[in-house]
Amino acid sequence: MITLRNVNKIYQTEHLQTKALNAINLHVEKGKFISIMGPSGCGKSTLLNTIGLLDTPTDGEMLVDGQSVTHLSDRQLSQLRNRKFGFVFQNYHLIHDLPVLDNVELPLIYRNIKTKQRIEMAKAALQKVGLTNRLYHLPSQLSGGQRQRVAIARALVGNPEVILADEPTGNLDTEMGEKIMELLKQLNSTDQITIVMVTHDPSIAGKTDYIIRMKDGIILQKPFLEENSTYH
Ligand code: ADP
Ligand code: ADP
Repeated sequence: MITLRNVNKIYQTEHLQTKALNAINLHVEKGKFISIMGPSGCGKSTLLNTIGLLDTPTDGEMLVDGQSVTHLSDRQLSQLRNRKFGFVFQNYHLIHDLPVLDNVELPLIYRNIKTKQRIEMAKAALQKVGLTNRLYHLPSQLSGGQRQRVAIARALVGNPEVILADEPTGNLDTEMGEKIMELLKQLNSTDQITIVMVTHDPSIAGKTDYIIRMKDGIILQKPFLEENSTYH
C-alpha cells in the first residue's frame, strides 16, 4: 500500500548536512503491524513522517496505493494524508483546554463535517478505546494511559487505513504501555488498520508482525519487506 524506493532525506542546516534517510527501500503491506527500532537520531521519526506524508523526501520515489505522490501539490498531499493516516505521538498532543469529546472531534472540523455527525463519530471513536465515561473531562483530569487513548480515538475518528504512532507508550509505565499495545493490536486485527509504530521497547516491538531495525538512516534488518516478496 505504501512503497518507498531509494528514498533519501537530507536535512541541510547552516553548518551541517544530515542524511536522515539513506537509500530507503520499503514496502508497507496493508493490514500489517510493523515496528521501527534503533538508536536515537537514526531516522525513525523521519521515516515515519515520510510514510505519513508529513515530511517530503529529498529524492527517491514514494507510492501510495500504486500512485506516485512525488508530484502532488501541498493541497493534494494534505487531502491524501487526512484521508489515509491517523497520527499518535508520545506526548499525546491534546489541546489542554478542550474536553475529551472536542479533542476527538477536531480532525472532523477540518473536513467540514456537521456538528451532530461530528459528535456521533467522536463518541464512536471513544467507545472503541473504552473512554465513553470521560467525554467531558479535560486531558489534565486523565491518567497518561487515558490521554493516549483519547489521542488514539482522535487518530481513529476519520476512519484511517493506517495509524502511524511515534513512541505511543514512551511516557507510560509498563502496565499502561501494555494496555495501549493491546488496544493497537485489537485495532490492527479487528478493524484491519495497518499500523507503523516507532518504539524503544523490545517487548512492545516483539508483539508486532515484524521489526525494522535502523542505524544512521539505513534499514539494517528488513525481513520480507521488499516489493514482490514472497511473504504473505
Ligand atoms: P530518531 O527518530 O531515530 O531519533 P530523527 O528521524 O528524529 O531520528 O532524526 C534523524 C536525524 O535527522 C538526526 O540526526 C536529527 O538530528 C536530524 N534531524 C531531524 N529533524 C531535523 C530537522 N528538522 N532539521 C535538521 N536535522 C534534523
Ligand atoms: P494512573 O494511576 O492510571 O495514572 P491516576 O491516578 O492519574 O491514574 O487517575 C486515576 C483516575 O482518576 C483516572 O480514572 C482519572 O480519570 C481520574 N483522575 C485523575 N486526576 C483527576 C482529576 N484531576 N480530576 C478528575 N479525575 C481525575
